[in-house]
Amino acid sequence: MIKDLFAEKKQLLSFEVFPPKKEDEFANAFAVLDSLAVLQPDFISVTYGAGGSKSKKTVEIASYIQNQLHIMALAHMTCVGSKKEDIDAVTAQLKEVHVNHVLALRGDRPSYMSDEQFDSRHFSHAADLITYLKGETDLHIAGACYPEKHYEAADLESDLLHLKEKCDAGAEFLITQLFFDNEAFYKFLEKSRNAGITLPVCAGIMPITSAKQLGTTVSLSGSAVPKQLADIIATYGDDPADMRKAGIDYAIRQILDLKAHHADGIHIYTMNKPKVAQEIVSAIQ
Ligand code: FAD
Repeated sequence: MIKDLFAEKKQLLSFEVFPPKKEDEFANAFAVLDSLAVLQPDFISVTYGAGGSKSKKTVEIASYIQNQLHIMALAHMTCVGSKKEDIDAVTAQLKEVHVNHVLALRGDRPSYMSDEQFDSRHFSHAADLITYLKGETDLHIAGACYPEKHYEAADLESDLLHLKEKCDAGAEFLITQLFFDNEAFYKFLEKSRNAGITLPVCAGIMPITSAKQLGTTVSLSGSAVPKQLADIIATYGDDPADMRKAGIDYAIRQILDLKAHHADGIHIYTMNKPKVAQEIVSAIQ
């Protein structure tokens, strides 16, 4: 189980991947996973389409990781747009393929979803989904956390109260939203420990390999971009090769600092780019 590794190992290394959008992209997705497996991560997590779309693809990719690569798979699962029966169907599929770790999330509201649909979900918050899964299944559960607070929370303190509810509901470890400012992460850890949150926390690191990435994925995360990273983008943003190198170097520096501060785990948002992950892993070991 992943939770046992925290006790056994000094620091975990894990990756996040997303499933292919189309059926004919599976061969490439498996090749990506084969390359990531060589780096011997402790687990690989697989994202879940917004609003519960494409959950079968998450299960298929998680199954490949678990059963073909023999690496522990952590399947993401969201409750926005899902009835209880939808959650039951996905948990049954996961059980069938022996995937027994889930990152239980509320999810974001997709742009196509009406207020009525969003508000009528069976599980309001991730903590409700965790309580349900702990009661009804044998799944091992992780939760998400936000060093710079979740975008809907009024402040970090109230967000931490809700994070504590996820821990009390039965989450076994946490994975952070991506962040670029390690000091914000260390302050978050201190505040969460003071709030009684004692679970291991994997630090989510996303290497920025193109200026475009900031405008899409990163702006959605709500994470602050420190001046040092903004300067890198201003200097190298127009040169793809230099930008890639500078972005990877920034991620490496972040991770080395986290390792020196004894972070429980490093979770790399790979964006399905195994070469980027390879370069980072070879520099941090
Ligand atoms: P929650 O824990 O439910 O929190 C959401 C908000 O509600 C917070 O502001 C919290 O403070 C507040 N809150 C919680 N409980 C209560 C309560 N009882 N009363 C009032 N307010 C409350 N999205 C996807 O669609 N697919 C993915 O695969 C995916 N993977 C992710 C992986 C990680 C590591 C992270 C950090 C996020 C991921 N997301 C994913 C995005 C995530 O779904 C969104 O950030 C979503 O808005 C919040 O999900 P959550 O599970 O943190 O929600």
